[in-house]
Amino acid sequence: MSTVVQPQVPCILSDELEDFRASVRSFAQAKLAPGYLDRALSDETPREVRSMLAAQGLIGVEVSPEYGGQGADHLAAGIACEEVARADFNAAYMVFSSTVEGCILAAHSPLADELLPRIVKGELKLCLGLTEPGSGSDAAAMSTTATRVDGGWRLNGEKTSVTGLPSAHMAIVFARTDRGPTGFLVDLEDPTVSRQRFRDPGLRPVGRGAVTFEDTFVPEERLLGVEGRGFGLVMKEFDYTRSLLGLMAIAVAERAIELTVAYAQERTTFGRPLSEYQGITFPIAEHLTKLEAARWLCYRALSLRIAGRPHTKEAAMVKWWGPHIALQAIEECIVIHGHVGWSDEMPLQAMRRDVSALLIGDGTPQIQKLIIARDVFGREPKTRTAAPTS
Ligand SMILES: Cc1cc2nc3c(=O)[nH]c(=O)nc-3n(C[C@H](O)[C@H](O)[C@H](O)COP(=O)(O)OP(=O)(O)OC[C@H]3O[C@@H](n4cnc5c(N)ncnc54)[C@H](O)[C@@H]3O)c2cc1C
Repeated sequence: MSTVVQPQVPCILSDELEDFRASVRSFAQAKLAPGYLDRALSDETPREVRSMLAAQGLIGVEVSPEYGGQGADHLAAGIACEEVARADFNAAYMVFSSTVEGCILAAHSPLADELLPRIVKGELKLCLGLTEPGSGSDAAAMSTTATRVDGGWRLNGEKTSVTGLPSAHMAIVFARTDRGPTGFLVDLEDPTVSRQRFRDPGLRPVGRGAVTFEDTFVPEERLLGVEGRGFGLVMKEFDYTRSLLGLMAIAVAERAIELTVAYAQERTTFGRPLSEYQGITFPIAEHLTKLEAARWLCYRALSLRIAGRPHTKEAAMVKWWGPHIALQAIEECIVIHGHVGWSDEMPLQAMRRDVSALLIGDGTPQIQKLIIARDVFGREPKTRTAAPTS
């Protein structure tokens, strides 16, 4: 009996996805790229950018059409993050966070019907609080508590380093109950909640801060998923967010290289354009090679997720390697631009500062390598203390 092998074209994105990329790129380059640098140097939340993204269907891009979303899959969401980041990293963060928050609400909140349409319209903005002053990499060591009371819970504790906190209306907060870490949706306008904004070198228009809960009441219906299973919920999301963030870092580096290629063709030294020196062109070729490889590893992690196959290791790989090689490429671009590249008159420094946020946010390189190493060597013995979890 002969086996018929169906023809396949692996490692190529579908025409539909490439058309989607072209439309997002055309919008982002026309509407977002021109204002990127001014916005990146400001702490103002650019509400008009959020509205433009929402009008374009790029806020909560995976939300089902029944709630007004595009119902995009993970690869399309990745491409949306990538193409918006190529124009404006901070705008891409809005696409990224609304996509992830939309996925969490759709999967885990009984209030999804009410909240998802507001997310898609850009009216409701969420953020995610996991890190605490005493626990970051070892997120399971959280000390924020949620105590059962009539009709819900009372939260006490502090979350820190929360991206998007300054302009958020609600936070997805992880707190410990008798049954373990649990996710809650918390109203940030509540009078028992106080916020403090940080001064940051990058991601400035998005903002980051600390939030304190003092006997904050959270009604029963704001529980996310199942009590005591919050940790599994957030870890599953990290397997997704890490690929999206990898794509964002890579896209910024590719844009920096585009600017550098144009500059190298114009700028002459010793009577010849820079583009005629291999000392300039070979490093560009090397960076593009690595970026292309990392980009496809991101698509692979997203494709594995769509197929319902394991992808924790691949997501960890792109999370440490994507920002790492993107930063190396951007720094090379700064040097190739000479003194003008170092100045804030050019966007390269802002790109470097923005992308550097991804070295730490969503888990550091050491933690990603630990996840990969566990896949290779198995988990370390339980007798050891402080096994990092994020
Ligand atoms: C820009 C930015 C955005 C962020 N956004 C959010 C957000 O929205 N929500 C949120 O909850 N958190 C957020 N964070 C926090 C982030 O997730 C944590 O900072 C990160 O997980 C590291 O935790 P930590 O800072 O407490 O460092 P620690 O856990 O104290 O680690 C300190 C250093 O030790 C290393 N290390 C720790 N354990 C080990 C080990 N076993 N082996 C080797 N090295 C180890 C770490 O890699 C790190 O370099 C953000 C952080 C940044 C910088």
